[in-house]
Amino acid sequence: MVQLADVCSYSIRRYLEKSEDTLFNEIFKVADKKNGKVVGARHFTMNHCTCKVCQAHR
Ligand SMILES: [Zn+2]
Repeated sequence: MVQLADVCSYSIRRYLEKSEDTLFNEIFKVADKKNGKVVGARHFTMNHCTCKVCQAHR
């Protein structure tokens, strides 16, 4: 399970830092949601960020 967590964090980091989204898309589509809003992943950055993580959380 630790290795699975490593893959998740690696894919999110590669997406946010290098815009690589192939692996990220597969993992992000199963992120935990509450009332249609993604709560299983967060991106703590500037308020006007337009990445997929921030858009799915708004
Ligand atoms: Zn963001």
